[in-house]
Amino acid sequence: MVSAYAAALRDAGAAVSILMPAYPAALERAVDVAPVARMTGLPGGDARLLRGHMPDTGVTVLLLQMDHLFAREGLYRDPQGRDYLDNLTRFASLAAAAARVARGVRNVKRPDIVHAHDWHAGLTSLYLRLAGVAAKSVFTIHNLAFQGNHPLAMGGWIGVPPELLAPALSDERSIEFYGSLSMMKAGIVHADRVTTVSRRYAREILTPRFGHGMEGVLQAQAGKLSGIVNGIDTAVWNPATDKHIARPYSVDDTAGKQACKRELQQAFGLTRDPFAPLVAIGSRLTEQKLADVVVHTLPALLERHPRLQFAILGQGEQGIEQALQDIAGAWPGRVGVQIGYDERRAHMLHAGADILLHGSRFEPCGLTQLYAMRYGTIPVASRVGGLADTIVDYLPHDPRGDRKATGFLFDGESPDDVMHALGRALDAFVEPSSWHVLQRNAMSRDFGWGASTSNYLALYADLVDARPAQPDTRVRKTSVRARAAAAGSRRDEFNTGLGEMARSA
Ligand code: ADP
Repeated sequence: MVSAYAAALRDAGAAVSILMPAYPAALERAVDVAPVARMTGLPGGDARLLRGHMPDTGVTVLLLQMDHLFAREGLYRDPQGRDYLDNLTRFASLAAAAARVARGVRNVKRPDIVHAHDWHAGLTSLYLRLAGVAAKSVFTIHNLAFQGNHPLAMGGWIGVPPELLAPALSDERSIEFYGSLSMMKAGIVHADRVTTVSRRYAREILTPRFGHGMEGVLQAQAGKLSGIVNGIDTAVWNPATDKHIARPYSVDDTAGKQACKRELQQAFGLTRDPFAPLVAIGSRLTEQKLADVVVHTLPALLERHPRLQFAILGQGEQGIEQALQDIAGAWPGRVGVQIGYDERRAHMLHAGADILLHGSRFEPCGLTQLYAMRYGTIPVASRVGGLADTIVDYLPHDPRGDRKATGFLFDGESPDDVMHALGRALDAFVEPSSWHVLQRNAMSRDFGWGASTSNYLALYADLVDARPAQPDTRVRKTSVRARAAAAGSRRDEFNTGLGEMARSA
């Protein structure tokens, strides 16, 4: 999301750089990488700051090189799936480096806005405040289920003053969270604005069902919380130009989709049947994605609908992977399962299927359903978060099609709920005129970054007290920078007593 969004921001005229750890894979792929600065005394020690460009978009990327922290096989977890024990130090170093850049590093442009993403970058806004930096901060929650919680006693080690580790009820700026230090909470409490990746998820996380214990914190900060849905890269995900699929097609000529269906049936060992309703599942195979419920629903679905086929691409919990493979073994020609992460096959899947089944217990935004709709594959999805925001539910009694339905939404998490929802979709599938309208609506929707980028730019402009984006980006940028500096001079000092702490952070 960050790399696609950064490119969209750049295209809208903003000067944008990405800061991320110099993971080995990032170092390998970034282009024109050169050192720009040294940083000493970060929570995890000393670092080199490198600058390069993203390989696909050319956006500037700053790579924080601390090989003892980041030159590892995994990003957040080791190959056995265990969180690295020093994740707090690793990501505190990243956040502290962001604050240094915002305060000013020679040869690096000083930002007006620092936009941090998810728990890994959650401490950024806290360090910005401690350092008295003028830049405004935005924190985006991508998935509240992962919070970056660590032992409270480690707070001092990463430069957090004791009063900010006190029991949260005594000080609302505290980053204590049920006896732990929470990087997610630090982002929520200390950022100037908090966003999440759909409007509905922004409301849902204020409730115990979706809040993962953070609902109280979020309610207290609700005034600065909003939702802005993610976009997709419409150049990469375009059925008219996609190199990964059997034959290109478009909303005005969907004939190529049949060839894609044939290819998908072949690749997944399914019976070649152009009229069989072909359902794709392409996601992490976890309980979040209702994959456990799907396992219990599939046999009954296959029995009830004799021509129904499933192509399943994913990886996740071992028990679920195995159960799906067992079902594929028991239903040859009707269920094909491929375990693994395979970008090319994901394109094939969205192009070749008729229906995408995408259950979710919670879904901050969701990309899979957006890809599916762009490829004329109609989603059947849970009515939660970004799924509910991006899919317009089909109603059979909408004779003029005024609602411009693009899929099917369902409530509940039981096999019956999934059965019923898929049954609704299959009823429409056998009526070609209804189905074509659904496909046309889905494929015509604009899921690109344009609208979301304008919303973020408006939020940034509002934060630095400037007017929203002007068509003349040169004028806008000058005014944003000037206003940001002015805002910095009269900003409320966080706590002057924390000044020393700030300098060391
Ligand atoms: P989440 O981030 O919760 O996993 P999203 O829908 O937001 O769900 O994003 C997941 C992305 O990863 C989508 O683009 C989806 O198509 C892709 N994806 C998931 N599993 C696989 C897989 N096994 N192979 C290829 N792509 C996958």
